[in-house]
Amino acid sequence: MAETIAEKVAGGCAGRIRTLIVGAGIAGVTLAALLRQRGEFPALIERASDLDHAGYNLALYPLGSRVLHGLGLFDDFMQVSVPGSHYRLGNGQGEIVHDFDMSSLLESYGPIRGIRRGELLEILRGALRDVPIHFNCSVTALENRGRTVMATFSDGSSAEFGLVVGADGMHSETRRMILRDHEFAYWDTGWACWVAWAPEDVLPKATMMEFWGAGRGIGIYPVRGAQGVVLAGPRRMMQKEGRVGFAEHVRAQFGMMKGPVSAVIEAVTKAQDAFFWDLHDCRTSEWSRGRIVLLGDSAAGFLPTAGIGASMAMLSAAALADELSRADAAHVEYALRLYERRDRAKVEAAQDNSRRLAKLMMIESTPLAWGRDQLMKFYTLDRALKEIVGIMEGSL
Ligand SMILES: Cc1cc2nc3c(=O)[nH]c(=O)nc-3n(C[C@H](O)[C@H](O)[C@H](O)COP(=O)(O)OP(=O)(O)OC[C@H]3O[C@@H](n4cnc5c(N)ncnc54)[C@H](O)[C@@H]3O)c2cc1C
Repeated sequence: MAETIAEKVAGGCAGRIRTLIVGAGIAGVTLAALLRQRGEFPALIERASDLDHAGYNLALYPLGSRVLHGLGLFDDFMQVSVPGSHYRLGNGQGEIVHDFDMSSLLESYGPIRGIRRGELLEILRGALRDVPIHFNCSVTALENRGRTVMATFSDGSSAEFGLVVGADGMHSETRRMILRDHEFAYWDTGWACWVAWAPEDVLPKATMMEFWGAGRGIGIYPVRGAQGVVLAGPRRMMQKEGRVGFAEHVRAQFGMMKGPVSAVIEAVTKAQDAFFWDLHDCRTSEWSRGRIVLLGDSAAGFLPTAGIGASMAMLSAAALADELSRADAAHVEYALRLYERRDRAKVEAAQDNSRRLAKLMMIESTPLAWGRDQLMKFYTLDRALKEIVGIMEGSL
């Protein structure tokens, strides 16, 4: 008879605190690698059938990439990522409003680099060593039973663990299983974006570029050998006009036939694998119930506007691994409380930073967009990334 998911997953799970991690994304794989480094054998499950779906660009701040030093993966990261030292902001006519030089940040805290999500996961996987990812697996029910959690898997089989970590992203099922509807809330911008890849070389080296117009936004972010591109706008308009229709509409508004704007429009128009992403985030009233804890986007989901969600997911994974390394099996809940106290204020401050940038970016009215453009001419980098700088500085 074929092995059940419970047999497969629980069979290889061992250590001081028998931990099940749900979701092999940035947070889940980082946590599993850190636990493995500490001599634990967590069980790691993933709903998808492989990690090949993991296709978009990430900017990684030192807040996240510093975790890679401790895992011995930083050199690998430097090899497959590209530098980002300038953030260039343009307006809805395609003119540059402000060129933010980020060198002082990089000097103080470390590099900000662009990487494909799939490549970052591949690097992190290297530190899992003998911990497998069990694909095509998810959890359908979780029950706290004092010092254990009973997990029921998608094939109906079940097993007990000492801790379950929900690292299952923005639309976390784990979150729904432990929190009631009024205990978490999505913050909806009313906007969405198409995400795709464009060929290399439409930007100056080490430069990320965005154009914010009235009812439209474009972003271009270099990674190795390509550039992640984003075309954003009010969701209702994007849904009504469709991918190609909206892209053509924006092309007409920008009136540009060449350069980065045109490269984004072309990439989004042509890409068969472009994906549609609703621009909302999510905040929860609590990060754990009993021995079930939330991590990464599942605890606090991020808008991509400050490019900080993956970094915060890695930072949180490091905080959780650290608290667990100081706990015995009888005091897991205490470790979870300490993890939340240590990390929550930072994560929500980074979310606030992302929300503030989203409010500046996602403007539909032409006069307001004009006013925003005037403001952005005088905006400093420290102002734009106020909360994130505070977290990097350790003052939050
Ligand atoms: C277009 C876009 C651009 C972004 N740009 C940036 C950026 O530049 N910089 C940055 O730092 N962040 C960025 N982010 C945000 C960042 O990707 C997330 O904050 C980060 O990935 C969160 O990590 P996570 O592990 O919590 O979630 P994810 O990386 O989303 O991983 C969740 C995993 O759980 C799996 N899963 C889901 N449900 C289940 C289930 N029921 N059972 C089992 N597995 C499940 C998923 O398949 C996935 O593998 C961006 C996001 C998007 C969408």
